[in-house]
Amino acid sequence: MAVEAGPHPLVPSVDLEEWFHARWATGYGKSAWKDTATFFRDVYGSDRPRGDVAPPVRRLLDFFDRKQVKGTFFILGEIAEWYPELVREVAARGHEIACHGLRHADMNLFTPADYARDLAAAKTLLEKLAGRAVHGFRAPNLVVQPWLKQVLQQAGFDYDSSICPARGFRGKYAGMRSCPQHPYRTGATLQAVGTTDFWEIPITAMPWLGLPAGAAIATRFFGLTWSRSALWFWSRAGSVQYYLHPYEIWNDILPVGLRLWPRLMTRHRGAWMQRALECIVDLYLPNRILTCEQRLEELQHTRERR
Ligand SMILES: [Zn+2]
Repeated sequence: MAVEAGPHPLVPSVDLEEWFHARWATGYGKSAWKDTATFFRDVYGSDRPRGDVAPPVRRLLDFFDRKQVKGTFFILGEIAEWYPELVREVAARGHEIACHGLRHADMNLFTPADYARDLAAAKTLLEKLAGRAVHGFRAPNLVVQPWLKQVLQQAGFDYDSSICPARGFRGKYAGMRSCPQHPYRTGATLQAVGTTDFWEIPITAMPWLGLPAGAAIATRFFGLTWSRSALWFWSRAGSVQYYLHPYEIWNDILPVGLRLWPRLMTRHRGAWMQRALECIVDLYLPNRILTCEQRLEELQHTRERR
C-alpha cells in the first residue's frame, strides 16, 4: 500500500528507559517485579543495571545523525542517575532533553506531593546534565492523574506529551479517547482543551478505532501500514507524533521469564523495527521533522493553532 505523508510535520520522540521499565515487568501494581531494585536483585544479583541501555541509544543516535534528524528524548530520572554520560551525549548530539519522571511507575501509585518532589529532582538532574532548561514531560506508561497539570506547571514545565487519544486499556489512556489529535492549549486538566499557555503535544492514534498508532509498539503489534496510515491521515490537518524506546530497535536484550503477553509486546524488535522507523522518518524528510520544542515554538509564534 502506497502511503504518503501529509503536509504537516512529524515530531519524533524517544522514551529513554530500559526494557525492564516496561509496565508488565516493573512499575505497576501487578507487574512481574515490584520495582527495579527487586528486579536487579532477582535477575542480575546486583543493585545496579548492566548497562544494556547504552548500545541501543547509540544506534538510535547514529540513525538520527545519518538522517540529519533531531528528536525529543523523554529521559527517565533514574536513567540519568545511572548513566549521566548518556544524557550528556544525547544533549551534545543536538536532541531535545525532556523529562519522563523519576521512576517508571504508574502515577496513581503516588501522592501529588510525592510526585512533585520526584519530578523536581528528575528535572533538576536532567537540566544539570543537559546544560539547558527542560520544558517537556511525558508520564511513564502514559498514565496521568487529574492533578498532573498543576504539578507540571508548578515545576516549570511548558508542555506535556502523555496524551494518546485512544480508548482505555488496562488503566492506560484513561479519559484520552476524545482528546484532539494535534497539539492544543490545555484547560483545567491535560485532557481539556483550553486557552492556557500550557500545551499538550499528543501521540497519534488510529482514526475511528481509538487505538494507538504513533508508537513503535503499535507498529510492531499491528504492522507498519497501520502506523503509516494513521500518520498520513492526521498529518493532512496538523503535526503528528511518533515515539519509540531504544530497546525496540535492538535484538540482543532478551527479556527473562517471558509470559504470553510480554512475548506479544516484544515481537518485531531489532532490525525489523529499525527498518520500520526508517520508512516513517523518510516520509517526512528532508525538512518536515521537528522536536516537540521546535513545534511548540512554531505554534506559539504563528497563527497556526494545530
Ligand atoms: Zn516509559
